[in-house]
Amino acid sequence: MMADPMTSPKAAKAVRIANGENLSKENTPPSKKRKSGEGKAAEDMAAGTETPWFSLKDIDVGKRLGAGKFGAVYIARERRTGFIFALKVLDKQQLIKHRVEHQLRREIEIQSHCRHVNILRLYSFFHDEKRVYLMLEVAPGGELYALLQSRGTFSEARSAWYFKQMVEAISYCHQKHIIHRDIKPENILIGLKDTLKIADFGWAVHAPSSRRETFCGTLDYLPPEMVKNNKYHSGVDVWGLGVLLYEFLIGKPPFEDSSEKGTYKKIKNVNPIFPPHITKEAKDLVTKLLHKNPTERYTLEETLAHPWVALNCGGVNAARLQKHYGGIV
Ligand code: AMP
Repeated sequence: MMADPMTSPKAAKAVRIANGENLSKENTPPSKKRKSGEGKAAEDMAAGTETPWFSLKDIDVGKRLGAGKFGAVYIARERRTGFIFALKVLDKQQLIKHRVEHQLRREIEIQSHCRHVNILRLYSFFHDEKRVYLMLEVAPGGELYALLQSRGTFSEARSAWYFKQMVEAISYCHQKHIIHRDIKPENILIGLKDTLKIADFGWAVHAPSSRRETFCGTLDYLPPEMVKNNKYHSGVDVWGLGVLLYEFLIGKPPFEDSSEKGTYKKIKNVNPIFPPHITKEAKDLVTKLLHKNPTERYTLEETLAHPWVALNCGGVNAARLQKHYGGIV
């Protein structure tokens, strides 16, 4: 059982430091001594203990990295080991007000169990009377959304390289029976060496066998089966990857409309428009990912083997793309 981030308050006080630590290769998660019966490393802490593992007393808090709906994210350092991480501070009142406590619990549960180079690590968490603190892997490059906004679109080579990383992250999730349900550039951060990291598991669900019915995610990325309130499975993420790839290549999601009703209608019709400069291979892949019928939609294995991905990211190209666009593979 995991400690509950919303209950059993403990007073704590932030200590601020100047920012500027370098993120060296030696930045390995701290391993605080555990009480008997507990695992050995702090990185495993979130996976199974009743007692909060860290408190603000153990941490120096530095510059703000960004702010979200429920709080802010700071660079931080664990005092004893010097381990650098991103500290996400969430306001409990806000979480309660927006009724997302359950979502946060699930997010922590799922993200803390994921170990993949393209998934942002959640090392640990703790809480006090007012706030929940998440200890996250630092993503120095910020949001992929900002990069896409500044560039307008990504080239096919860059799109393929980024897309492949996301397919691999989602494949890992599906192997663990996790459906992400909210793939979009806003939920992808740029980590060390420009490696893409899925960072937000707020809508993710662990669904070993059952088909789901909950309506969730972001409108522009919703698949037809969700729009129609049908039961769905991991195929919703394949659809999400199709919308993501379209957005990389064209700069906006395929079913965008000035009204919500219009977007719903476009999703149900599934007729994405491709500008003439998009290659037929890219168009073919997006079309196969955005198949109306989830059972006929491409699988992730087929996606990775598709000529557009294989040609762009395979063989000698892999090294070239990695040099150019980064990414740990
Ligand atoms: P969020 O509350 O998750 O939306 O995060 C708000 C902002 O903080 C993001 O847009 C990022 O700019 C920044 N941020 C969040 N998490 C991290 C992280 N792990 N490393 C670096 N910056 C982050």
